[in-house]
Amino acid sequence: MVCTSSKKGVECFFMNKSGCQFNGGSCHPIVDACNGCQKAKEFPAGKFCLIFPEPATKWRAGKCNMATHVEKVVAKETAKVNPLKASKRAAK
Ligand code: SF4
Repeated sequence: MVCTSSKKGVECFFMNKSGCQFNGGSCHPIVDACNGCQKAKEFPAGKFCLIFPEPATKWRAGKCNMATHVEKVVAKETAKVNPLKASKRAAK
């Protein structure tokens, strides 16, 4: 349902006929770490995240997984080397 409280006009899972059902009755504003993210938008009631109602929780255990302004650390894939074959190759 479309939000009629803090993020007016945005489709929201927590909104229903009796109002916002999120903990506290409305979304929480973004935190400093969200500045620069494309999901953070300015509304008349303040700056809010378009996808998360409480941005502070997304930063509690590290970086927000949906942040658009931080680089994602890509794990380098290392090829598995058989030590026995590698030693035979080295001996040749
Ligand atoms: S997606 Fe994450 S970083 Fe971006 S505004 Fe929302 S909570 Fe903040």
